[in-house]
Amino acid sequence: MKTAVEVLELFGNIRRAQNAGVYAPHKPLLILLALARVQRGEPRMVEFTAVDCQLKQMLAEFGPSNSAKSRHYPFWHLATDGHGSIWSLSGPREILNRSAGATPSLGELREYHIRAGFPVDVDEALRCIPGLVQAVATQVLETYFPATLQGDIAAAVGLDLERGAEALDAPSLTTGYGNAQRRRRDPDFRDRVLRAYEYRCCVCGFDLRIGHMPAGLEAAHIQWHHVGGPDIEPNGLSLCALHHKLFDLGVFTVEPAEHRVIFSQHAIAGSRGMEGELQFHGNPIHAPQHSDLRPAAEFLAWNTKNVFKTPARQITSLMPNRPAAR
Ligand SMILES: [Zn+2]
Repeated sequence: MKTAVEVLELFGNIRRAQNAGVYAPHKPLLILLALARVQRGEPRMVEFTAVDCQLKQMLAEFGPSNSAKSRHYPFWHLATDGHGSIWSLSGPREILNRSAGATPSLGELREYHIRAGFPVDVDEALRCIPGLVQAVATQVLETYFPATLQGDIAAAVGLDLERGAEALDAPSLTTGYGNAQRRRRDPDFRDRVLRAYEYRCCVCGFDLRIGHMPAGLEAAHIQWHHVGGPDIEPNGLSLCALHHKLFDLGVFTVEPAEHRVIFSQHAIAGSRGMEGELQFHGNPIHAPQHSDLRPAAEFLAWNTKNVFKTPARQITSLMPNRPAAR
């Protein structure tokens, strides 16, 4: 059985699916799903079909556009991480003997009843060491997802992060791994971004204060910090807590030419319609107080490509007096 330190180290070194800067949440979401299964006391190995539906929903909600199409990749590719020390597969030889690059199709994974799970020594440690599941899950969440989404993702996979979390009482165990992927946050980033936008949400103008302190206002990274986005004003937006979450979910983005707020066609405003969130669609953001502080095109492009849920809503039909979006 592996020790807690060894297990945390293993999960701190998962290879990113693609190049740095490209956001691929497939592997971490699969790991979180598998951790939740361990926490519920379910069997070590699971057939692909049993997690297929949940992976699809998770990627549709928390992944970039179209990422659900490749939802089966990590089920196969995670087995090559750490030379098989993180994930093991079982199934007919004709499939398992393939080269790592020859990913089976969705249909093959179903047809051949391919199963996977944590290797025995990792699985045992996760089940036997109190608090280890929570420590690994927290490490994975913090490494791959923005703070706005971590709680929602844990809830969606059914992970209970509170239960027994204090049990792993040596704090040094839960820090220090995966730091190659994690960078320090600049503690001044929030202040600089909020000041740039004069302490209001650049989408809706929300600017409540408690005394002198802004309340419910956050500095969002346009290119997420944990995938290389720098702590500089051109990579920041001052957003109220609601718009920060919607932005990180890819419900809207900001286009680079005129800095207009563009909502996704997947965002449906329900009964509030144009009086609700969609009233902001097509509006320019409240500009920062200096042109040097404006959002930079490269970071907006990253957000549109990796987070925004395409396709975008049309602008002309909503804002008839404006030129069409490019
Ligand atoms: Zn707002």
